[in-house]
Amino acid sequence: MRIRTRYAPSPTGKMHVGNLRTALYEFLTAKHEGGDFMLRIEDTDQERFVDGAIEIINKTLEEAGLVHDEGPDKDGGYGPYVQSERVKTGIYMKYAKELVDKGEAYYCFCDKERLASLKTEVVEGKEICMYDKHCLSLSKEEVEANLAAGKPFVIRQNIPNEGMTTFHDELYGDITVDNAELDDMILIKSDGFPTYNFANVVDDHTMNITHVVRGNEYISSSPKYQRLYDAFGWESPVYIHLPLITDENHKKLSKRCGHSSFEDLIQQGFVSEAIVNYIALLGWSPEDNREIFSLEELIKEFDYHRISKSPAVFDIVKLRWMNGEYIKAMDFDKFYEMAEPYLKQALKKDFDLKKIAGMVKTRIEVFPDIPALVDFFEELPEYDPQMYTHKKMKTNSETSLQVLKDMLPILEAQEDYSNDGLYATLCKYVEEKGVKNGYVMWPIRTAVSGKQMTPAGATEIMEIIGKEETLKRIQKGIQLLEASI
Ligand code: GLU
Repeated sequence: MRIRTRYAPSPTGKMHVGNLRTALYEFLTAKHEGGDFMLRIEDTDQERFVDGAIEIINKTLEEAGLVHDEGPDKDGGYGPYVQSERVKTGIYMKYAKELVDKGEAYYCFCDKERLASLKTEVVEGKEICMYDKHCLSLSKEEVEANLAAGKPFVIRQNIPNEGMTTFHDELYGDITVDNAELDDMILIKSDGFPTYNFANVVDDHTMNITHVVRGNEYISSSPKYQRLYDAFGWESPVYIHLPLITDENHKKLSKRCGHSSFEDLIQQGFVSEAIVNYIALLGWSPEDNREIFSLEELIKEFDYHRISKSPAVFDIVKLRWMNGEYIKAMDFDKFYEMAEPYLKQALKKDFDLKKIAGMVKTRIEVFPDIPALVDFFEELPEYDPQMYTHKKMKTNSETSLQVLKDMLPILEAQEDYSNDGLYATLCKYVEEKGVKNGYVMWPIRTAVSGKQMTPAGATEIMEIIGKEETLKRIQKGIQLLEASI
């Protein structure tokens, strides 16, 4: 059997982390077995349709590397791949009528008022209104007459009040529910469109889908889908319902947290490969503790049997770490292309940006970390002279003042402001004084950067900022220290 999976988004906005995970797991489930991954647009809920959402879906899948084998733009013989276009083929109505003929569905002509008057029950905090099968008792003649008169109708699934329905999920096992708990859900709406509940069954079957991977919010409806498969005499696909994704506080990941969509994450400077890698681990884990996987490696390793049932926590700190690993491993030219705008944001003077980029590559987690890391090149920040005191380097205000005062004329006389040239000069002084390296480097680096931590050593910084600026900063250090002693 050739595995066929589908990603079936509703075009209602950005692609959230949960959506992307579903798409990724569908993709991996198919590709691990050399199968087909299909894209189907589920736009039957016209009220929720958002302009531009299909473009976002396409762009996200492309950037994430989840290339589909079939879809609206790639016919594989199972089209159309957009549900609103499938409606026009009459496919849903045809199958709904087949169910009506079998007694598994019925026309319902109840108006809004009547539906509103039905008893609602509160189950687990939610108001539930079960349809009372009123129209099931209409005779064939009454139905015909209503249809002939053009009365608006829906078609509902006919679920018996007795008995049980069981369906199988690969992760959760057999799930059995009391039929009395299942509502006679609408299959065809009054606008002639199918509901998601009906369309997903008809489409998954007619498009030959073998594995359905989706969020576990669909588990409670799956018994109804199972009844539809059974009514048609179709074999149901393998179901894989995915665990919830929560935020750090174990609450459902919400749009409000600001990093819940692929687009947001890209905008915040994350690399698409890192996002995909991180998302792959939200609910799935390999046999060993390995964490870094390229998409190719994921295809090889991914086994849906290893998906966990417990909620997965979306941990932005972990994603930042992983992103940093991707940046470190990135080819320099690609890195520079992505880093340049952030470097330019902080650095307006005529610096060697490539050199600075090389300094920060291993020191950032996301690209927006760059400006704060390099802004001292542009302008010496205000700093506390306390910084000159460093226990391990055995420096304090007095020793630092002495070093700066000694070095100032030497650096004034120095012509060669290359890193190597400057380093040799500083080392010479270290040797003459018979002190440890840090005893000299620490105060110099403090004076030229005004920072406790810098992406480069003293002489590399001096090379970048140049002679004039170096001397100014050393003088400033002397002043600060003199005033503080
Ligand atoms: N259109 C549904 C959604 O966007 C798809 C659910 C499914 O995969 O069956 O949530």
